Amino acid sequence: MSSTDKKIVVVTGANRGIGFEICKQLAKNGLQVILTSRDEQKGFVVCKQLQDEGLSVQFHQLDVSDSGSINRIREFIEGEYGCCDVLINNAGIFPDSVDASGNDWPSVFDAPIEMVRTAMEINVYGPLLLCQAFVPLMKKHNYGRIVNLSSGMGQLTHMGGKCPAYRISKTSINALTRIVSEETLEQNILVNSMCPGWVKTDMGGSGAIRELPEGADTAVWLAMLPDDGPRGKFFRDRKEFEW
Ligand code: NDP
Repeated sequence: MSSTDKKIVVVTGANRGIGFEICKQLAKNGLQVILTSRDEQKGFVVCKQLQDEGLSVQFHQLDVSDSGSINRIREFIEGEYGCCDVLINNAGIFPDSVDASGNDWPSVFDAPIEMVRTAMEINVYGPLLLCQAFVPLMKKHNYGRIVNLSSGMGQLTHMGGKCPAYRISKTSINALTRIVSEETLEQNILVNSMCPGWVKTDMGGSGAIRELPEGADTAVWLAMLPDDGPRGKFFRDRKEFEW
């Protein structure tokens, strides 16, 4: 077991975009970051980039849609560090940003059910399995922070039409936040959802209005909440956001 006294954070989908930026900011704040990605090569390259800046970042493969991969990282974290203090469920896909004919914003009536299933696998069941893997370790040490990357597109209060796979998956991850939060009320485990805003990434596109540091900021803040911080809430720009 490692002797580090730094908090251990696992970030999913961290080879690019907001996940990568979250790793950078958390490492700069003194956490021991486990940067994960489904593609080993891509993960190694960006991990080395952060290590070269002198940051405490280690790579581990993780495909959130593969339960074997989730088991392997749980075993690695338990053996290497003995605890997982922070879990950032960042990995995500937006499969219905365009439909099969290349038209934007496909209707719920045209959505292939396979597309909805895939969005659920990656955006919801992956985070659920990761909570099952790591919450027992958090409970053992009575410390945990879980940040679920959601979206305004999953907000029920202002739910619009179109893009059903993404919308349903992001509403569902908000439900997961509430459920896990309710079941950890007795422990010092704070589980929250956040929306990063519209961020310039491969998913957000070049027309997006936010740069990466702003997109990652609320997730980083939630990852480092003090023990009396909020739990079971939805945030944007460090402010509570309607479900
Ligand atoms: P990107 O598309 O830029 O990056 C997505 C990341 O998720 C990539 O690293 C990708 O890996 C990874 N990923 C996808 N599937 C899997 C999987 N099965 N296992 C592990 N990793 C996987 O997205 P963003 O950085 O923009 O988004 C990050 C999060 O923020 C997402 O949950 C997204 O829904 C949310 N969000 C983003 C917004 C934005 O404007 N950008 C707005 C609102 C929410 P690979 O490179 O291998 O594909």
